[in-house]
Amino acid sequence: MVGLLIPTPKPHFNPHPSSTPPQNDHLTRIRASDQGIWLCRPQHVWNTFPLTFSRRATGEKDVRFRVLYCGICHSDLHFVKNDWRFTSYPATPGHEIVGEVTEAGSKVEKFKIGDKVGVGCLVGSCRSCQSCASDYEQYCLKPVFTYGVPNFNGTQTYGGYSDHMVSDEHFVLRWPENLPLDSGAPLLCAGITTYSSLRYFGLDKPGTKVGVVGLGGLRHVAVKMAKAFGAEVTVFSTTSAKEQDAIDGLKADHFINSKDQHQMEAARGTLDGIIDTVSGDHPIAPLLNALTPHGKLVLVGAPESPLEVAAFYLIMGRKTIAGSNIGGIKETQEMLNFAADHAQWRTQKFFHGGTEYF
Ligand SMILES: [Zn+2]
Ligand SMILES: [Zn+2]
Repeated sequence: MVGLLIPTPKPHFNPHPSSTPPQNDHLTRIRASDQGIWLCRPQHVWNTFPLTFSRRATGEKDVRFRVLYCGICHSDLHFVKNDWRFTSYPATPGHEIVGEVTEAGSKVEKFKIGDKVGVGCLVGSCRSCQSCASDYEQYCLKPVFTYGVPNFNGTQTYGGYSDHMVSDEHFVLRWPENLPLDSGAPLLCAGITTYSSLRYFGLDKPGTKVGVVGLGGLRHVAVKMAKAFGAEVTVFSTTSAKEQDAIDGLKADHFINSKDQHQMEAARGTLDGIIDTVSGDHPIAPLLNALTPHGKLVLVGAPESPLEVAAFYLIMGRKTIAGSNIGGIKETQEMLNFAADHAQWRTQKFFHGGTEYF
């Protein structure tokens, strides 16, 4: 999910270079001011091209900041390819954004010019519903995600693959001093996604037996986060070649090749919970088998196809399949502070994990 970090501005970043710009009439340039990249999918091939557009003027509760780094999340890739069927083009993704404040509105209380800040997946919510009042803005029925949706003023939101951001200060995070700006950026999506799911489902206690499924940045972060909580971590992968990376690199305690029936059978009933980060279609019944009674399978990846599971797998052991989506703003700040207190986050490197599936 997470990985390659690009310093910004980098408007010509192009993972699928093409020398021929697409001829899509509905794709229009927007008035110049800020630069980003826009993505389109002419004839089912997606490409990136520079886009110039304006951020809104800095309002009295807004913070404007220069983007220094932005992580590339697997959601960005799903989005630009319209895998979830709601992308409107042009689009500028990026929701793991770190930068430096260049302007603060007259009523901004938390930030001043020069502060290092971050913005994750949310830049707005209704601020009045039960979810918002409980610091679960991510579950507000009127969320404004950082890119690809209409903002309250009717304009489209554009993400962090751009050189400036403007956001209400409520959705801006204070960047801890001892947390790297570059390798820390993915914490704003992958970090809070795994932190919040481990916390909420009670998998954050020392000695808890936690499985992590999948490959790529989100799994990477999930393993490190679970280890930071003191959990005993088992990594599942279809690729034995990843064992060394999991054990030596990520310091996981155990590795299971999920294609190996003997290994999967040996894991039966051993895990209190599993964080499933896989974004491709995959079987989940074998994972449910690996749970203890009352165990929880928590989905944080988003495969395209509906899950298939026989009720029997849940009934026998009162097991739970759950989902979890990022975290609220208060919890995201808590997570950044938690990461800054753990040495492993201060020295980490991220990579683009690609699309290997469980
Ligand atoms: Zn993300
Ligand atoms: Zn709300």
